[in-house]
Amino acid sequence: MRKKIVAGNWKMNLSIQEGLKLAKEVNLNHLGNANLNVELILGVPYIHLTSVIQEVGSSLKISAQDCSVHESGAYTGEVSAKMIQSCGANYVILGHSERREYHQETNAQLVSKVNQALKHNLKVIFCCGESLKQREDKYHFEHLKQQLNESIFHLSAQEFSELVIAYEPIWAIGTGLTASAQQAQEIHQFLRTLIADKYDDDVANKIPILYGGSCKPNNAQELFAQADIDGGLIGGASLNSDDFIQIAKSF
Ligand code: PEP
Repeated sequence: MRKKIVAGNWKMNLSIQEGLKLAKEVNLNHLGNANLNVELILGVPYIHLTSVIQEVGSSLKISAQDCSVHESGAYTGEVSAKMIQSCGANYVILGHSERREYHQETNAQLVSKVNQALKHNLKVIFCCGESLKQREDKYHFEHLKQQLNESIFHLSAQEFSELVIAYEPIWAIGTGLTASAQQAQEIHQFLRTLIADKYDDDVANKIPILYGGSCKPNNAQELFAQADIDGGLIGGASLNSDDFIQIAKSF
């Protein structure tokens, strides 16, 4: 049985006060649903990490949304994996399409970020996904293969077990368009096959693969019912505690 995971990505939203309020609500709701057999992760802005971890870090897992390629040094504005880990965070989201698109993050840079995260004992939620054009051109399988090949397939099997993959079709992020359960399952199965080919069946069968892209309470159940979908990376709906918990209850 693979771990079930629902991870929120707050992106650049919420003041510290609003973030703490949301984290407390999610935590209370989570504690009130004691039989919920799902790991809940909150992906929060850097400056929220310490306060949110102090508030709810014993029952929820906390993630940053990026980290530097560098270990330390004169890189004004950057935040290292070591700093994130020192706050008590458990995860870091890497390779989100918004960072790839707006910050020109490359597959090669992601190698360094993944290495930094693992070196400092952070688990990685590694995002991959195709644009609408790539899907229309039927290039999406090749594109996904390249993203995995160039950013995470250098890892040993043991290192790879610290990863969670998030398949996030870019055309479905924040657009209200969701991949159908069949489209998502097809890709999740494909990703698992790639991982089995690179490592082995054991590694492929253990790694959680999450779906992300306009996942909401009204579509989570159908998505999570698919054999290779182990949960979701949730953007917009993670900013509302009721919606977020409703999604977590969808397994
Ligand atoms: C995301 O940005 O990771 C995401 C899945 O966003 P949304 O749920 O809003 O589409």
